[in-house]
Amino acid sequence: MVRRSSTADATVPAPDLDEVRTALQARADDLRSRIGVMAAAPERGSTLSFGKRIGDGTLEAVGRLTEVGVGASLELEEARVSRALEKLDDGTYGLCDACGRPIAPKRLRAMPESVLCLEDAAKLRR
Ligand SMILES: [Zn+2]
Repeated sequence: MVRRSSTADATVPAPDLDEVRTALQARADDLRSRIGVMAAAPERGSTLSFGKRIGDGTLEAVGRLTEVGVGASLELEEARVSRALEKLDDGTYGLCDACGRPIAPKRLRAMPESVLCLEDAAKLRR
């Protein structure tokens, strides 16, 4: 009979920093190129379907709102990834930006761009 450790959570090793850096760098590049494409998108889409039906303008406005939302969340994610990369350079990676306590390795593995511990991230969301 094999005994399984019930403390597996506590024994998750800290992530390899070189791997984290490579992954975060790739993520940041990807996010930046996507943000760049959106920022460069032409603003004259409105002339295409102008005056056809009343509904068109509304649909377009909704589409635009969604696009802005996506852009904002990409920028937010890019900011988080950049901050995590900064922390790698500082040597503070893995420590919470708010309280300075270590972030659980399990959380870092799931979300390598984490710069806040679980408690502070939850506070921020409220
Ligand atoms: Zn914290």
